[in-house]
Amino acid sequence: MVEAVYRCAKCGKEFKLDLETVREVRCSYCGSKILYKPRPKVARRVKAI
Ligand SMILES: [Zn+2]
Repeated sequence: MVEAVYRCAKCGKEFKLDLETVREVRCSYCGSKILYKPRPKVARRVKAI
């Protein structure tokens, strides 16, 4: 399972998509196809120093 986090440019919601099974990348809230690029899951949370 390859999850990626997308952020919708229209409504600003963040959501995860499974890149292995998703057929169409679009916002699951408003249906917009304008999304910010996903962050790779390997990117871990940055420490808040
Ligand atoms: Zn949206």
